Formats: sequence, C-alpha cells, structure tokens
Amino acid sequence: MTSTGHFDLKDLTQGELEQFVPGLGQQRYRARQLIKWLYQKGTTNFDAMTDLSQSFRETLRRVAFISSLTARKIETSVDGSRKYLFSLADGQSVESVLIPEGSRLTLCISTQTGCPLGCRFCLTGRMGFVRNLMPSEILNQILAVQRDEAIKERMTNIVFMGMGEPLANYDSTMKAIEVMQYDLGLGFSGRRITLSTAGLVPQMKRLMTTELRFRLAVSLNAADDDTRSFLMPINTSHPLKEILAICRRFPLHPRERITFEYVLIDGINDSPRDALRLASLITSIPCKVNLIPLNESPELEFRRPSDEKIHQFQEVLLGKHITCIIRKSRGNDISAACGQLRAHSSGS
Ligand code: SAH
Ligand code: SF4
Repeated sequence: MTSTGHFDLKDLTQGELEQFVPGLGQQRYRARQLIKWLYQKGTTNFDAMTDLSQSFRETLRRVAFISSLTARKIETSVDGSRKYLFSLADGQSVESVLIPEGSRLTLCISTQTGCPLGCRFCLTGRMGFVRNLMPSEILNQILAVQRDEAIKERMTNIVFMGMGEPLANYDSTMKAIEVMQYDLGLGFSGRRITLSTAGLVPQMKRLMTTELRFRLAVSLNAADDDTRSFLMPINTSHPLKEILAICRRFPLHPRERITFEYVLIDGINDSPRDALRLASLITSIPCKVNLIPLNESPELEFRRPSDEKIHQFQEVLLGKHITCIIRKSRGNDISAACGQLRAHSSGS
C-alpha cells in the first residue's frame, strides 16, 4: 500500500482479488479477468482492460495501481546469459539473470535486496541486508524479462537463486510462487519452479504444510557443523542434523528429489573425506547433488578448487550411487554467476 492508500494489484493472490472485487460492486469472476490482464498480457494500464466496464476501471484506478519494473541496465555474457538490473520504487535495486541452457531458458530471480544470512563466500551476503521484496517486485522481474524483445523464446524455468534468502521473506515468496502458477496468468507448473534455501528450519517446517507445488533445493555447502558454521553463520542456529531431519520427512511426489547444492571451496570443504561424509549424511534422502565450484571474487578470501579436485569429489559421490552434477558457471564475465549478485542502489 502506498502513502496515498493505493495498493498494488500484483500483491494480491486470486483468492484475495476474489474477496476484493465484490466490495467494488463486481462479481468474483472479474478477479480472473484481472489475473489474465496482469500476467498473461502484462498490462500495466487500466484503460487496456477492455472487457471491464468503464466505471469498474475508474473505481480500480481510485483504489489500486499496477506496478512494473524496467531494466536500468542489461548485460550479456559471452555464454548468452543476460543480467538485468532493476531499480525499485524506493531507489533500491535487484538483479535477475536469464540463463539459456539447451532447450531450457531459466530465470534466476531475487527475493530480497541483500541478504541477512551473511554467508562468507557470497557477495550478496557480504553486502548485508537492505529489505524484503514485495510479491509484486518478485513477479515483476519475470514480467519485465518476458518483455525483453531480444529474447525470442519463452522462459521455461524459474529458480529462486538470485539475491536473498527466499524463506527469510516467506510470505512474499509463497504468494509469488502461487501467482506464477495460475493457468490464466504466467502458467509455470510447480515442476518448473525451484526454491533454494540456506536451511531456515522453522520456515522449512512451514513449507511442509503448504499445498503449493515447487522443487526444493537446499544449500548444504559443508558436511560437518564446524565447517558449515564457519561458512554459513545460520548453521549455528540450525545445524545440519535439524536440516537433514526435515529433508528426510519432506513430502515429495514419486520420482521427485531434493537438490542439495554444495559450493566447492579450495581447502575448506573439498576433500574426498568431505565427500564421503556428505554421502553418508544424505544417503537415505531422495536427492541429487549440484556441485558449484566457487565463483571467485577479489573480495573473497576463498579459491575455487582445481578441476582435478572437483572431479575427484564428484567421483566419490557417484561411487556411493548419489546423482551428482557439476554446475557450469554461467555469466561469470558479467558477475551474474551464483553468489555474485550485488546490486547497488541508484544513489550510489
Ligand atoms: N539464499 C539462497 C538462494 C540464493 S544463493 C541459498 O543460499 O540457497 C544461490 C546459490 O548460490 C546457493 O546454493 C549458494 O550456496 C550459491 N553461492 C553463493 N555464493 C557463491 C559463490 N561465490 N560461488 C558459487 N556459488 C555461490
Ligand atoms: Fe544469502 Fe544464499 Fe548468499 Fe547465504 S548464499 S548470503 S543465504 S544469498
């Protein structure tokens, strides 16, 4: 809601719109028409909503508005990834990254400006926490990239792996996930949406009770608590045992698996012993492992392991019959790779 009392239609779910429109003297099904205009057609102007009466449009304009985002800067990597920098209404910024990969076109979106969890190897974490994004600000990243005329194909997948910890902004993230699945709107099925978390246990428990469908990825990044607490301070409140206990009970559909992300850092968590320990931790969980060789930065005291060590680590896991891929780094040349997003506010 703005200071003038207007609120953003994109902050409401279909259920909330259905409660709202009868108060304006309209029938509930008008909510579905609004969803179609907002997300399928990407309309930002009430005048374009030609199947709504003039007077309803006038009423809407009096109480609500439709936000949108425009990229302030777009950079294209040699590998074809594109990084979008968006300015938010209050001057803060966020980034999203579009990654073409075979038949897939994945958009990596942000849920916060900065991140409160402060992982040592992550530039977003190092910039500190600024604020949570509203559902509209999360959804508008998708809508803005879909409007990019340089992109000819349709986006196929959404991953919550940009700036911020999605579960630290639980309500906005869940609302955005719900809205992006509406058939009348963006129409992403839950199988094409992946939420990545650093392991916020209370929120993960809440997730287990939601009916929303999406894929879960958990950033483990270490196989023992000392190393993990050193890399990810959140581990001191929610250690590995708690996170893995939840993963073990997490409701999965047949053939669905949890993805464990593991950033490989030279001399810190990349020994064959670490790999064996990791294997024993996750062996009873339906899962796959994404190994992410550290994306380096002059500001980080860590290094990427050698290719040989990376492959050795993978071999140990494969030897224990754990599905395991090495995630190729994308968009490195434009600082768009995992953990490199760190937008500056427009004032700086
Ligand atoms: N906060 C969530 C999602 C955003 S981070 C989370 O932590 O899961 C997305 C992924 O990038 C995480 O798996 C994280 O471990 C990884 N990452 C962070 N910094 C990185 C870096 N410097 N190099 C490689 N991966 C990194
Ligand atoms: Fe936040 Fe994820 Fe970066 Fe950790 S890795 S600081 S949780 S964005």
